[in-house]
Amino acid sequence: MLNVPSQSFPAPSSQQRAASGGRSKVPLKQGRSLMDWIRLTKSGKDLTGLKGRLIEVTEEELKRHNTKDDCWICIRGFVYNVSPYMEYHPGGEDELMRAAGSDGTDLFDQVHRWVNYESMLKECLVGRMAIKPTIPKGMLPKTQVTDTLTKEGPGSPSYDWFQTDSLVTLVIYTKQKDINLDSVIVDHQDDSFRAETIIKDYSYIIHIGLSHEIQEDFSVRVIENVGKIEIVLKKKENTSWKRLGHPLENHNSLIPKKDTGLNYRKCQLISKECVTHDTKLFCLMLPPSTHLQVPIGQHVYLKLTITGTEIVKPYTPVSDFLLSELKEPVLNNKYIYFLIKIYAAGLFTPELDHLQIGDFVSVSNPEGNFKISQFQELEDLFLLAAGTGFTPMVKILNYALTNIPSLRKVKLMFFNKTEDDIIWRSQLEKLAFKDKRFQVEFVLSAPTSEWNGKQGHISPGLLSEFLKRSLDRSKVLICICGPTPFTEQGIRLLQDLNFSKDEIHSFTA
Ligand code: FAD
Ligand code: NAD
Repeated sequence: MLNVPSQSFPAPSSQQRAASGGRSKVPLKQGRSLMDWIRLTKSGKDLTGLKGRLIEVTEEELKRHNTKDDCWICIRGFVYNVSPYMEYHPGGEDELMRAAGSDGTDLFDQVHRWVNYESMLKECLVGRMAIKPTIPKGMLPKTQVTDTLTKEGPGSPSYDWFQTDSLVTLVIYTKQKDINLDSVIVDHQDDSFRAETIIKDYSYIIHIGLSHEIQEDFSVRVIENVGKIEIVLKKKENTSWKRLGHPLENHNSLIPKKDTGLNYRKCQLISKECVTHDTKLFCLMLPPSTHLQVPIGQHVYLKLTITGTEIVKPYTPVSDFLLSELKEPVLNNKYIYFLIKIYAAGLFTPELDHLQIGDFVSVSNPEGNFKISQFQELEDLFLLAAGTGFTPMVKILNYALTNIPSLRKVKLMFFNKTEDDIIWRSQLEKLAFKDKRFQVEFVLSAPTSEWNGKQGHISPGLLSEFLKRSLDRSKVLICICGPTPFTEQGIRLLQDLNFSKDEIHSFTA
């Protein structure tokens, strides 16, 4: 809802439309971009009409503020006067008015729960609800959620711990088979220890204020066939612990993943290298006190504070496998790589580009709905990427070529404006030379007269020629990612070519 700028905005081809996951957007008036909104919030203007006072809001009071000029909305127990924001909302005034005078939490979460509304709307804060209007997220009784999970699969997770003189081992029993090192995210900060285990669409959370100090680093082991996770912590002092610690928020609870909120940790910028004239490879290092691996096909949110407001944008990590000839192999999972295009007039990417080596960026937990099971028994993999829509394809390509024995061919059709925009062209060509299962075709929408390859936009002609199955009934997956109009058009064309929904995976926010 809040965190997206404008131009009579976004322009039909703007990447903004991709960031919205295809939701409808309205043109905004001149001077109503996100940056304009930030400026207004810093101007000292009284945006609530309460002269800086915070009040307790009853349900009756909330209901009364239900017009465009006087619109209050409650999100997670906090009430905001969003009338000054109406004209800046990329989803339009009508969309905001759907929550006027009521609790908009569910609506907000459905559309874009990752948007940092607390920071964006802090000057619009009216106060707290006197009585919370809905059960707060994450407070569902564990049994209720567990019952749901039990119906879908095995029973509820649990944990235990034991110790030696120097170590404390926390064991999480997920009772699920498809658990791996990507499934668990661990953060340790001061005495707070948090482990989030993703089990299907739920998160099982261990969140403890530890009773004793531990060293910064720890190890995580997964015994996959029994779904057991062991986290080994190193004690600072060799004393016997009587208890692990005290429970913190959501400890020992199983919460629908969509309700967990995004957890961030600060990562250090290690390197920044030019890949094309406007795209750079950023390498971030996770803190030693974090275990986080971004699963294939998933993205994270990067957060920076820009003129006092926290801004969040999604990015898809890539692996460096295409660069392996040029680089030392990475020995641990502490590094996350991003290919990021810098938009000179953009809000977030110029700030990112200005960071110095050693500076910090906050990185969220991973999100996304790509499932590795989509590769099962796969024979033909087709990748349709446009511009930085190439990013999810990098890990997919690596995984497919190394882990799927049934795979016969992988074809990438890579759409760009000009030759100069093609990311990792020579690396892709080398890979095609080395591995006969892989083919790459470049299609340019604004080529120079010297280009003698394919040209144009995504079209029925290009696709029907490209998407040839290796066998009549071979199992196919087509992944598509790029600007929203590209992705939407691509999906329509694929459906026209009789590919089923299960055979198409599109990447959106
Ligand atoms: P914005 O401020 O959003 O601006 C974008 C464009 O609009 C620019 O061309 C800018 O000039 C123009 N513009 C902005 N404001 C105005 C205005 N008021 N008037 C006219 N024009 C304007 N990108 C990557 O590079 N790498 C990735 O790995 C990646 N992964 C993504 C994953 C997902 C799931 C999604 C949805 C998007 C991903 N993106 C990725 C895109 C990324 O999230 C950002 O949208 C992108 O970096 C642009 O952000 P920005 O704030 O710099 O630009
Ligand atoms: P770009 O503007 O350089 O365009 C690249 C190609 O996309 C063009 O050459 C053209 O073939 C095609 N294209 C662009 N606009 C089109 C339109 N209106 N109709 C049909 N085809 C069109 O691309 P860019 O600046 O690199 O933007 C990449 C986009 O991919 C961004 O919008 C970004 O948000 C999105 N992205 C999404 C994800 C995700 O997971 N959802 C990941 C990475 C990038």
